[in-house]
Amino acid sequence: MKKINLIGLTVEDLQTYVTGLGEPKYRAGQIFSWLNKFRVRSFDDMTNLPQEFRDKCAETATIDYPKIVTQQQSKLDATCKFLFRLEDGAHIESVSIPPREDAVDAEKRQTLCISTQIGCPLDCQFCATATMGFVRNLTPGEIVGQVLAVQAASEKPVTNIVFMGMGEPMLNYDNVMKAVDVLTAHTGLAFSPRRITISTAGYSTMIRRMADEDRKVKLALSLHSLRDEVRRELMPITKKFSVNGLLDALEYYSKKTKKSVMLEYIVFEGLNDTAVDIALLTKAAHRMDCRINLIPFHSIAFTNPQGISAELKGAKKADIDKFAAKLRAAAIPVFVRNSAGVDIDAACGQLAVKNEKQKKKK
Ligand code: SAH
Repeated sequence: MKKINLIGLTVEDLQTYVTGLGEPKYRAGQIFSWLNKFRVRSFDDMTNLPQEFRDKCAETATIDYPKIVTQQQSKLDATCKFLFRLEDGAHIESVSIPPREDAVDAEKRQTLCISTQIGCPLDCQFCATATMGFVRNLTPGEIVGQVLAVQAASEKPVTNIVFMGMGEPMLNYDNVMKAVDVLTAHTGLAFSPRRITISTAGYSTMIRRMADEDRKVKLALSLHSLRDEVRRELMPITKKFSVNGLLDALEYYSKKTKKSVMLEYIVFEGLNDTAVDIALLTKAAHRMDCRINLIPFHSIAFTNPQGISAELKGAKKADIDKFAAKLRAAAIPVFVRNSAGVDIDAACGQLAVKNEKQKKKK
């Protein structure tokens, strides 16, 4: 019989496991804390469990993190990219991102950007992950395991998590939310949901669902254009979910949850940086409680882009700053994201496991 990996299981899942072995339910809570709070790697270290039960666990279960194959440190900043091998031999990446210098808790903060899928089916024209195509969804264990593995390999604890690595979290909603439940459980890693951000390319229906389910994590939307015709070209998902439908969903979300949403916007020269774009963005931002993150475009030249992907040009730093100033003048909170990790292809949108590339950028 195949052994079951206990990483990523909730207390309820573990109850099913322990009762299946003829043990009382409360053992599940004990195992959960050993795995997620004390983070032991062997059943023998679970010292409050009877030896006989520890042996039964070792016969039927494992404690497996995704295996760190390489750890690449940027020479320009504190970014570190982790390449993992999963149980089936597939690879994914996570990135530890240095804090903004002006962050209040900059010294303590370690933000980890994690993946939710192997590859991605959405085909956003500016994103390197798209060139991998879609392979499969990650399990809750593979999602939580990225955090546990990086935590075990780092001196600083992981303090913030962003679901902005490979893949579209809304297409793997159940596993992502189960991972969030495990990460936020008080008897485990105990992450505050306010330190977890889920970023989507724009599934209006799922944004409404998160609001209705009163999920406490933060929400980010990769917006990039408010003009349907431009956004459709950049992000084909817009053919399914229009810009207006998205804004309605975000307004619903921010009003219902009383939470601020983060709007992410890559500034492309000549494409979404005109006075009309600024006016549309201002109007949209005034509809809801939000903040805007302006992101510099990170080159995906290494994917050999063709067509529109090859034509995209990031706005210059000075022009992004001007863009930000115009939004601030309209009383909108704006951050200009820095480009940490570009030398190791670890900046936003640059994640792609090269040996698993399935198709070239068209
Ligand atoms: N699928 C999710 C999460 C993954 S992308 C989403 O779309 O939000 C994480 C962030 O990186 C998104 O805001 C995305 O738009 C941005 N991004 C993708 N490619 C990029 C690139 N080449 N340069 C800068 N940001 C990029």
